Amino acid sequence: MAVLLDNVTYSYNINDTHRIDAVKELSLHIEEGTFVALVGHNGSGKSTLAKLLNGLLLPSSGEVKIFGNSTLDPNTIYEIRKNVGMVFQNPDNQMIASIVEDDVAFGPENLGVEREEIIRRVEWALSKVGMLEYRKRTPFKMSGGQKQRLAIAGVLAIKPKILVLDESTAMLDPQGRSEVLKVAHELNKQDGITVIHITHFMEEALGADRLIVMNGGHIAFDGTPREVFKNYEELKAIKLAVPWETQMAISLQKAGVDVGEGIVNQEELVERLCQLL
Ligand code: ADP
Ligand code: MG
Repeated sequence: MAVLLDNVTYSYNINDTHRIDAVKELSLHIEEGTFVALVGHNGSGKSTLAKLLNGLLLPSSGEVKIFGNSTLDPNTIYEIRKNVGMVFQNPDNQMIASIVEDDVAFGPENLGVEREEIIRRVEWALSKVGMLEYRKRTPFKMSGGQKQRLAIAGVLAIKPKILVLDESTAMLDPQGRSEVLKVAHELNKQDGITVIHITHFMEEALGADRLIVMNGGHIAFDGTPREVFKNYEELKAIKLAVPWETQMAISLQKAGVDVGEGIVNQEELVERLCQLL
């Protein structure tokens, strides 16, 4: 099992008398090779969960295991940090070097990887994110989408088995968002990397194998996107909207136009409407 959370609670201690349970008695399994979309409104505990996965935070109670190793075990925490690569929200905060290839080399250099292998990894990682031709350039003038792809390359050079993108598309324009999402899906399909994509954009969950919705530190829904979208009313109550096509199909159904259940995109909606006409 790539990820296993067993009854995990994480509390931030604000002061002697006050604490916030950001993640509450949460249990979860994620199989290797799955593309997971993790969605929830602000403060639902997504980033806390992400940081629990690579041992940046340790559970207040319960246990987090990555490929069978507990984040509480000091002997395996190093292995876990290598296995769980994290990319964050702000594309400008994740660059270290002024030349693209040096930036990607930073991670493996720190791990003491030998030179030849570093060169191979930098080439591989940059080509994976479609940035090989920029290797000698400076990252500072790049678009947000390019910077985030570079951040992914930097993480890939450490050869993680799990890639966690914590709102990594949130600050990007639509083009940048789709670039980053495409790279994440390719890494999942071609390289078998388990992806946990944390996002505010419900439509970005559509391509995922599994959609997990968080609310108040709990898992509110967990299933395929199609299954989860059926709970559109409950989702609305926790400030999440299903894709407009799904909403439109529901409204049509209520108005007596029998488009059927489970529509998630424009093609499906058009097809059903055409069949009816
Ligand atoms: P999300 O990523 O879904 O927005 P977070 O995991 O960041 O959620 O936050 C979950 C809860 O924990 C929120 O109530 C938030 O205010 C609180 N929280 C997050 N980080 C801290 C922190 N460093 N100190 C205190 N409270 C925090
Ligand atoms: Mg967050």
